[in-house]
Amino acid sequence: MVNVPDIFGSLVFDDRTMKERLPKQTYKALKKTIEEDKPLDINVANIVANAMKDWAVEHGCTHYTHWFQPMTGVTAEKHDSFINPNDDGTVIMEFSGKELIKGEPDASSFPSGGIRATFEARGYTTWDPTSYAFIKDGSLCIPTAFCSYTGDVLDKKTPLLRSMEAVNREALRVLRAMGDETTTKVTTTVGAEQEYFLIDKDMFDSRKDLTYTGRTLFGARAPKGQELEDHYFGKIKDNVSGFMKELDMELWKLGIYAKTKHNEVAPSQHELAPIFTTSNLATDHNQLTMEMMKRIANRHGMECLLHEKPFAGVNGSGKHNNWSIGSSDGKNFLNPGKHPASNLRFLLFLAAVIKAVDEHQDLLRISAASAGNDHRLGANEAPPAIISMFLGSDLEDVLESIAAGTDYDDSRELLETGVTVLPDFQKDTSDRNRTSPFAFTGNKFEFRSLGSNDNIACPNIMINTMVAESLSQFADILEKADDTDKAILDIVKDTYRKHKRIIFNGNNYAPEWTKEAERRGLLNLRTTPAALAHYCDEKNIELFKKHKIYSELELHARCEILLENYSKMINIEALTMIDMARKDIIPAVSRYVKELVETASAKKALSAEITSELEIELATKLSKLQLCFSKRIDKLDSLLLKAADIKGVQELANFYADEVFPAMQEARIPADEMEMSMDAKAWPYASYGQMLYSVK
Ligand code: ADP
Ligand code: MG
Repeated sequence: MVNVPDIFGSLVFDDRTMKERLPKQTYKALKKTIEEDKPLDINVANIVANAMKDWAVEHGCTHYTHWFQPMTGVTAEKHDSFINPNDDGTVIMEFSGKELIKGEPDASSFPSGGIRATFEARGYTTWDPTSYAFIKDGSLCIPTAFCSYTGDVLDKKTPLLRSMEAVNREALRVLRAMGDETTTKVTTTVGAEQEYFLIDKDMFDSRKDLTYTGRTLFGARAPKGQELEDHYFGKIKDNVSGFMKELDMELWKLGIYAKTKHNEVAPSQHELAPIFTTSNLATDHNQLTMEMMKRIANRHGMECLLHEKPFAGVNGSGKHNNWSIGSSDGKNFLNPGKHPASNLRFLLFLAAVIKAVDEHQDLLRISAASAGNDHRLGANEAPPAIISMFLGSDLEDVLESIAAGTDYDDSRELLETGVTVLPDFQKDTSDRNRTSPFAFTGNKFEFRSLGSNDNIACPNIMINTMVAESLSQFADILEKADDTDKAILDIVKDTYRKHKRIIFNGNNYAPEWTKEAERRGLLNLRTTPAALAHYCDEKNIELFKKHKIYSELELHARCEILLENYSKMINIEALTMIDMARKDIIPAVSRYVKELVETASAKKALSAEITSELEIELATKLSKLQLCFSKRIDKLDSLLLKAADIKGVQELANFYADEVFPAMQEARIPADEMEMSMDAKAWPYASYGQMLYSVK
């Protein structure tokens, strides 16, 4: 039998291990560094490094790596062994404080958006002591931040940590102005629900599109999709269950609070949800979870697909970012309590989020923008590209009555339902709407637009920074106010009146909402390039500069990297399509047509009585489709040539979105039609039906 508490965190150099293995003074000094964000003393670092090394070696490690999150979207690691030569030709295992604190990988092969000139290719990784070191595959992994030689950020962790600092700073100002002298630190918390597909590994390997791009570029629909809604929460198949059990176990060893697992809407689709933790840890943990999913699926003869839209015609995969804010000693400021109408701290923090989401819709949209996620947003399977908020009718009533200056009777609903604790009650009313991009769900907000493959650092950088700005403006007012309570109610009233347009409790999938949102003046940024065009707007530069998240240079660099990534992704997809068409599909159709024609003439030769009408008709139909297909592929090819001449990252991304992408969709149509008309054995790839229903 497995003893979960025993194995939980067994591969993490966590607080328990530190306490056990570090001298008292060192432990205290390190704790101070972690809790108060103080720089780490080199003498302390030396002792910590040595203890970490001993622990890692005992667990079978030979190497260490600075584990970081560059702008490529995946985590990066370069492994160094602990060995150090002795004079006599033997080696000892060593790890110094310097090696723990700082690494110097060559930065030149990571995207920098023009920040790093090649003559200063050096980059630095620095240990983030707020995220524990852990063991993965025989290496001691040290979570680190990554920056250029000149100190500009090249990763996703640094700005996330900066944004958490900004929220802490501004929230503490607000709390002090409200008379709270005891809270020492404000943190943001996140729980990231992760969706994914599992398919047979051999079928995955047989498809170039899945291998190169993560999604199918061709594929006729299977006779059965998700229409019967029989997969969601259904019985978990044996092979999948085996995978899930091993995944839980590996995640628990890494100190990740894997909690819930179930089947999702589409066939072969599943979800994992952890228990929430601080934003920084939640981000590291989500990256590790995705990596483990892929690795463990392989051990079970399967491939884990994290692409946002691996299959057309069934739901794609997203990620829900549950976000809240509270004190480090566990108070949740978004908990309405029993009497939200008189809970001033709750109302103020709620107002901060409402103002933030309305003023920075563009940033939230950008944080969920990727080529893959463009397939989902607005396709009636995920929230639309229009950002709005859902509060639920109870909370809206509270805000309405404050805005109107009338009393809110908050005992009413409690009596009706017989529920005594409002958070649960709020949760029940608010959870009914699953179509909202940004929904209040009882004591937290759930941002639902994210793609399954996204690094959650980006949305959390945005949310934290936006909310820090609201809080900063509120603090300016409160610090000068004579009557704080009245000032808070005035802020809530004023915020609600000004930003009410962002609140929408209806069905976000309905076509009427698009019109209504336009009337309200809300943004509708349909594609990634359209969203990114707003990244470096003046208001955003000011926002990120003020809270020391990004300099103007860093922001421009980031935008450039994202635009480039988008263009590269579509370009790879288009090239893969062309490759599959010319090397596999067109020849396969020719062979099959030849077979049909040969059958037809064999029939004719045998007897005039036997009709070959079917073969001839089918061969004719296929030949026509094949020609049409080939022409569309040629057109796609010529568009790529044109793209090569376009200057300017924004212009190029626009071209890929407006010209190349539609041409790819056009090209797919005749191919899928041919697949439907051909002998399954003659088609060169595993079918949708096989892929979606193959796992046992
Ligand atoms: P569902 O969205 O399926 O109804 P839950 O509401 O139980 O599921 O929780 C969804 C996620 O929200 C979980 O990962 C949970 O840990 C997380 N969560 C709950 N409370 C908070 C909080 N205060 N801050 C951040 N995330 C939270
Ligand atoms: Mg959810």
